[in-house]
Amino acid sequence: MKPFSRILVANRGEIAQRVIRACRELGIESVAVYSEADRHASYLDLADHKVCIGPAPSLNSYLDISKIIAAAEITDVEAIHPGYGFLSENPQFAEICQSCRIQFIGPTVDNIRQLGDKAMARELAMASEVPVVPGSPEIVEDEEEGLRISREIGFPVLIKAVAGGGGRGMRIAREESTFVAAYQAARTEAANAFKNSDVYIEKLIEKPRHVEIQILADSYGSVIHLGERDCSLQRRHQKLVEESPSPAVDDDLRARMGASAVNLAKASGYRGAGTVEFLLDREGNYYFIEMNTRIQVEHPVTEMVTGIDLVQEQIRIASGVPLRYRQEDIKINGHAMECRINAEDPSRDFAPSPGKIVDFRAPGGMGVRLDSHAYSGYTVPSNYDSLLGKLIVHRDTREEAILTMRRALDEFTIEGVHTTIPFYSEVLQHFHFVKGNLDTGFIEEYLIDA
Ligand code: ADP
Ligand code: ADP
Ligand code: MG
Repeated sequence: MKPFSRILVANRGEIAQRVIRACRELGIESVAVYSEADRHASYLDLADHKVCIGPAPSLNSYLDISKIIAAAEITDVEAIHPGYGFLSENPQFAEICQSCRIQFIGPTVDNIRQLGDKAMARELAMASEVPVVPGSPEIVEDEEEGLRISREIGFPVLIKAVAGGGGRGMRIAREESTFVAAYQAARTEAANAFKNSDVYIEKLIEKPRHVEIQILADSYGSVIHLGERDCSLQRRHQKLVEESPSPAVDDDLRARMGASAVNLAKASGYRGAGTVEFLLDREGNYYFIEMNTRIQVEHPVTEMVTGIDLVQEQIRIASGVPLRYRQEDIKINGHAMECRINAEDPSRDFAPSPGKIVDFRAPGGMGVRLDSHAYSGYTVPSNYDSLLGKLIVHRDTREEAILTMRRALDEFTIEGVHTTIPFYSEVLQHFHFVKGNLDTGFIEEYLIDA
């Protein structure tokens, strides 16, 4: 199978840099694209070619399919890596790539369509005997139907957008009297954020853990899983800290959840890297919530414990190479943990804090990995997500990983913008965090006066 000789990276920030690094190691030329707001990004110099794709607003640059395709044609690439966010889960984009004879580095158009609709993904999970959260069998047509289903499954319930993502388009109804208001609020938010107001209903799982399984599937029907990531530490349904293995998952549960994830991927004829997300309740039952058909922000923790470069594997799979690993080759070594470092002010409700970084001193030493595109003198634009980078540690045990993470956070100096570094230092000192007693309500319960 002929490997690619040149790939365009249709993203920005740390993930663009991550993909460029993978290309370089594989001996593949990379093309970086950038908006006018990112013209001084340092990773542009790591790429072999760079193309400006327009002004700062994403709609006119990173989300503008015609500009990305034009850049790909001008530079004559064979494939496009979409990263995460932006066009990564857009089936229309994947389809246009296909019709332009450019390989989309990701799943098939059908995979994205089917699994990107959370209600359809739920139906497929049920048909594959993967446990799902009790809820509506499909989308809910109106308030009466929603109320009837909620009474059947029992309050509290969660009303969720079928097109939801990034923790948005979700509303809790704790009892019947608040259902209609919550239903309408979820639909309005979904219409505004995703241009699709369809919603479905799930029972609200109280104090769950978020545990997800990383999978890899090739074009020939082989599917393996690479263990789990525990992403229970969240604020407003968005992940902040991720780790692998999960303190709550033993070998038996890992094998069962892994098998469920592999079954779902097989049922959809999946190709590429993907993540099957589950909630784990306090009794140890797990329930499918959604599948993400792309590389995830938190993929490095899996890379550290398995030793497998997920972005390189995505590229190999897209070029038609069969999986190089069998399930029995996958071993989980030690413990990895990641903190997402954002330019945000934790003391002002995590308000974005764009501006110029006047001093940037990266942590280092044994067991420390930093995936960041920021540097001294870099200006954080106000147009995009405020992720500055990811601080990842890998040690033999969870206890050691926590000690290394605390030490690395202390070393990490960023001046000029507010960051979430001090917030993580506080989290990593917390008694229940150290014990591994985590659930998705942890931050609200212990660290933020809501
Ligand atoms: P992941 O599922 O990879 O862990 P998240 O769930 O945090 O990442 O985010 C899902 C996707 O949505 C990511 O690709 C991220 O870039 C994007 N995203 C996260 N937060 C926002 C936001 N506030 N606005 C727009 N996109 C976002
Ligand atoms: P998104 O597409 O925004 O990532 P998910 O369906 O993956 O949405 O859910 C994001 C988070 O919302 C979960 O990690 C969990 O914290 C919370 N959540 C989702 N569904 C439920 C549920 N049924 N009960 C309790 N919490 C839930
Ligand atoms: Mg999710």
